Amino acid sequence: MSAKHIRNTGDLMRFRASIRIDCPHCAAARTLSGLETVTALGVCSFEEAEARLKCGRCGGKGARVSVLPPV
Ligand SMILES: [Zn+2]
Repeated sequence: MSAKHIRNTGDLMRFRASIRIDCPHCAAARTLSGLETVTALGVCSFEEAEARLKCGRCGGKGARVSVLPPV
C-alpha cells in the first residue's frame, strides 16, 4: 500500500500510517502515530496540520509534515 492514498490525518488511522514532523528552524524531528496525530489535531489536511503545528523545542512554526508509509 502506498502513502499516495493518505490525504488527511484521518487516513493515517485508516491505513495505520504515521507522520514525521520536521522543524525547519531547529531541526527537531518527531514521529506521531495516526492516533496521536488525530488526538492532537483532529481530522484535517496535512496543509492545515502544518499550519497549526508548533515546534515543541523552539516554538517555531512552519513544520514540514511527511507521511510515513504503513509498515
Ligand atoms: Zn524547532
